[in-house]
Amino acid sequence: MSDPLSSADTVALFVEQVIPNYGRYPVNLVRGEGSRVWDAEGREYLDLFPGWGCNLLGHCPPPVVAAIQEQAAKLIHVPNTWHIDLQGRWAELLNRHSFGGQAFFCNSGAEANEGAIKLARLHTAKDRYKIITFEGGFHGRTMGSLSATAQPKYHEGIGPICAGFVYCPYGDLDSVREKIDDETCAILVEPVQGEGGVRIPPDGFLAGLRRLADENELLLIFDEVQTGCGRTGHWFGYQHFGVTPDLMTLAKSLCGGVAAGALLATKAVAPSLRPGMHAATFGGNPIAAAAGIAALQMIEDENLLDRVAELSAVFQRRFEQFAAECELVSEVRVIGMMIGVELNADGAAVVKKCLDDNVLINCTQGNVVRLLPAMNLTTDEAERGCDVVCAAIQSLID
Ligand SMILES: *Cc1c(COP(=O)(O)O)cnc(C)c1O
Repeated sequence: MSDPLSSADTVALFVEQVIPNYGRYPVNLVRGEGSRVWDAEGREYLDLFPGWGCNLLGHCPPPVVAAIQEQAAKLIHVPNTWHIDLQGRWAELLNRHSFGGQAFFCNSGAEANEGAIKLARLHTAKDRYKIITFEGGFHGRTMGSLSATAQPKYHEGIGPICAGFVYCPYGDLDSVREKIDDETCAILVEPVQGEGGVRIPPDGFLAGLRRLADENELLLIFDEVQTGCGRTGHWFGYQHFGVTPDLMTLAKSLCGGVAAGALLATKAVAPSLRPGMHAATFGGNPIAAAAGIAALQMIEDENLLDRVAELSAVFQRRFEQFAAECELVSEVRVIGMMIGVELNADGAAVVKKCLDDNVLINCTQGNVVRLLPAMNLTTDEAERGCDVVCAAIQSLID
């Protein structure tokens, strides 16, 4: 392989050759290991937002790398007209760690949600098609998942969006009760809103949705694309709240950084996605399956769910201490490896300041500094990251 281009040359290449739909930092990242990444100039960064949440096991987790390398030499892709034992074994692991249903595999979070939307409509059929979703939620960028995403800024200029999505304020059970009618088939919700700003549901909200779904024969769908696969310190976010959905969507960290998505459905609902009604050519391919199995196995072998609780406590303690001293912080929200520090100031400058100090973070909704660290971060890295992020926020005043 050729040597990497410099960051400046890479930026120039992108200006000519790549559609400019992302705001990108002018840095060419070329290598990663654990929670560290390096750019083409050899500069090292501490990555507290690895892979936009996809690299929950850090960059290039060794068991996942080994599984991919081994599988790539055997079989990369065969279509779903054949049986692939790895796909079946991967499904078995996911179902065993969740609610004992069945799995459909695809390639991204948006695609998993499309599958859930179609399955919900198919299952309830007979003129029932409306799905209740929540303001500030995020479900993806394809037309169905975008229509489910109740954030007008993402719809601007793209409409008309798909019919049948009904929006309620997050946390407001009364509003959901009022909006349910004879045409409603499902409720779709993130157990914790991620892109919406690490919004943790009020006590009883998810249980209330479960009750409303049961009373009205609706399906309860949890979008666990961000909260799933260990992020909250449980295998899946719903286990944190003790409320089980009928359908659950997964992606992001599902395969240790390899692109994949999954839809899990209870055995009562799964058969409604009958042959011919849905598909994904690459879904559940041998590489994704090998990586997915290795990722789940690594979490188990290295007791990483327990590690999340320890690390989470470090971030919580540090940011709450800081909030008590810094008037710019309006709220600290931490659940597992999802960390949101809400500011009463714009957060973009904080991200820039951290980048200058070799720490990668994110800001969402304009004013929520967001970290989605790897679950195998070291305690030293966590403490050092907190030092830099707190100093960056403080620098807005000083
Ligand atoms: C990231 C995300 C998605 C979209 O996933 P893609 O893989 O980008 O399509 C959907 N839902 C939630 C909760 C997400 O965080």
